[in-house]
Amino acid sequence: MLITIKKSASAAEIHSVQQLLDHHRLGHRICENRTQTVIGLEGNPSEEIALELRKLPAVEKATRISTPFKLASLAAKPEKTVIHANGVEIGGDKVVLMAGPCSIESQEQLDLIAVELKKAGVAVMRGSAFKPRSSPYSFQGMGEEGLKLHSGAQKKHQMATVTEVMNIQDVEMIAQHVDILQIGARNMQNFDLLKAVGKSGKPVILKRGLSATIEEWLLSAEYIMAHGNPDVILCERGIRTYETSTRNTLDLSSIPVVKQLTHLPVIVDPSHAAGRTDLIPALSKAAIAAGADGLLIEVHNDPKNAKSDGKQSLLPQDFTNFVPDLRKVAEAIGRSL
Ligand code: PEP
Ligand code: MN
Repeated sequence: MLITIKKSASAAEIHSVQQLLDHHRLGHRICENRTQTVIGLEGNPSEEIALELRKLPAVEKATRISTPFKLASLAAKPEKTVIHANGVEIGGDKVVLMAGPCSIESQEQLDLIAVELKKAGVAVMRGSAFKPRSSPYSFQGMGEEGLKLHSGAQKKHQMATVTEVMNIQDVEMIAQHVDILQIGARNMQNFDLLKAVGKSGKPVILKRGLSATIEEWLLSAEYIMAHGNPDVILCERGIRTYETSTRNTLDLSSIPVVKQLTHLPVIVDPSHAAGRTDLIPALSKAAIAAGADGLLIEVHNDPKNAKSDGKQSLLPQDFTNFVPDLRKVAEAIGRSL
C-alpha cells in the first residue's frame, strides 16, 4: 500500500499515521520528494486497517499496490512521467537521442564528436570520467578533470550531459558538473549509491544489471524514488545469457513489459548490448519500434584508439547515417525524433 499524505498535514498528524502502522506492526517508510509526501508500506494491510488509515486527518488516499515496487508502479501514477534535464524532455512524444564516447579522453575528442552529434539531432551527450572497468589495469577515467571538459562541451555545443557515478562520495561533486547521473549495470544493486543519487536532485539513468530481473531493476528504481528523486530513467543495456555472438543479449521484451508496470521512461543502450557496431542500427530501430523513449549510443571519433569500448563505438558519420531510418520508425508509431 502507498499512503499519500495531504499537503496540509501537520507533523503531529503524520506521526499519528506512523503510530497506527507501528501498532499494527506494518513495516513502512516515509518518502518525501519535491511535490509530495507518501508512506510506502511493505505489504497491503487488511481492509479493516485500511479503513482506519483512511479516516486519519493526514491521509489523502491509501492505494493498494500489488507489486513490490510502489512509487514506480502504474497503480501509484497512471500517467507517464516526463523528465526534464536542461531543456530536454525524456518520456514525452519525442524519442530522445543520447550519444557520445564511452570515456572522456580530451577536449579535442569531445569537440570533434559533439559537433557531429549536435548536427545529427542528439540532445544528450554521454561521456564518463569514472569508469567501472572489468580489469584494474584498464583506463579508469579522467576523474573531475574530465567532468570539467564535459560541462565545457555542454555549454559550447548546447547539449545536456550524462555521466556515470560509481561511488557515494562523488555524487555531489559530479552532480555539479552534469545534467543527468548514470548508475551503471554493475552498480544497479549498490543500494547505498542508489540512496545517494536519490538525494542528488538530478535525473538518474538506471541501467539494468547484467543478471537482473525486471522486478529487481524496478525495485532499484524504487530505492532512488523512495529517497526523494522521482526522475528515474530506466535503461535496458542487455543481459547475460549463454549466447556469445553478442556481448550481452538485448532484452527487447523488457521495453513493453516495463511499460505495463511503470510510468517511468525507458531507454535502450544497443552499444553495450551488442558489443559490436554492425548490429547497432538494427537494434536501435527495433528498440524504437518496441516503444523505447530514447537511445544511448557510443560514438567515438577514433574507435580503434578509444580508451574504452572502441569495438562497439560508431564513427560519428556512421551514426549520422542511420538517424533518418530511426526517424521513419519513430514516425511510423506516431512519435517524432
Ligand atoms: C557505459 O555506459 O559505458 C557502461 C559501462 O555501461 P554499463 O554499465 O551498461 O556496462
Ligand atoms: Mn562503455
